[in-house]
Amino acid sequence: MDQKIQSLGACPVCTNSERALFRADPQWPAYRCGECGTIYLDPMPDEGALAALYTDAYEGAATGYFSKPEKKLRRSRGRMRLLRKYAPPPAKFLDIGCNGGFMAEAAREAGYDAWGIEPDPVSIRYGRTHFPNCHFTEGTIESFAPNGPDAAPLLFDLAYCSEVIEHIPAPRAFLTHVHRLLRPGAIFYLTTPDISHPRRPRDVTRWDGYCPPSHCVYFTPASLKTLLEACGFSVIRRQLAFKPGIKLIARRTDPPRGV
Ligand SMILES: [Zn+2]
Repeated sequence: MDQKIQSLGACPVCTNSERALFRADPQWPAYRCGECGTIYLDPMPDEGALAALYTDAYEGAATGYFSKPEKKLRRSRGRMRLLRKYAPPPAKFLDIGCNGGFMAEAAREAGYDAWGIEPDPVSIRYGRTHFPNCHFTEGTIESFAPNGPDAAPLLFDLAYCSEVIEHIPAPRAFLTHVHRLLRPGAIFYLTTPDISHPRRPRDVTRWDGYCPPSHCVYFTPASLKTLLEACGFSVIRRQLAFKPGIKLIARRTDPPRGV
């Protein structure tokens, strides 16, 4: 893997530089922010290192093979049943980090104009082949700027981002792009591992959610709320999670307070 790295010196969520060493790993040391409690790697992997990781970071990448696609679709349909209460169709849906496109397809079935963006070309190819009535874009959110038929920027009513933000070294900038793509009042569903969860193994290296450098920012429910509010969202519901994960429904409110 590419070993180039970038040093932060401060929390990627609240920008405070007060911190304590969380884990003295010789290659990927982690710190706990003294202000918001986020745990983050410093140095961070740089974009080249992250791109290399995507190649085999998850199922489907490199092989284009997804196991149990029907089960994935069923789970996605279950999530759509919850989300449609907050932003009912017809409406525009975006899955950020859409993998093989299962959630986009479930949204399309439910009556949404369904879009997905994903940096892994093999996963995007799978989505385009199996779910041809969805719109898939290969790339990252920074350069994603779709236009509607009238050439005006396309704004989404419902965005979905599951198990992605923990991979992003600059989550404030990432959420500012999510904000840019949503209309005022739009719904944003976000999931990520919860490092503060009571069921997380005491030895963090025994937790499957702790996998540096692929996961480089580790949130608590409070620190994720802090980040969302700084970026122009308000949390309207937090789903109880039996496993160490955070599942939030937020609404796009104000302009972001800057990154
Ligand atoms: Zn912080």
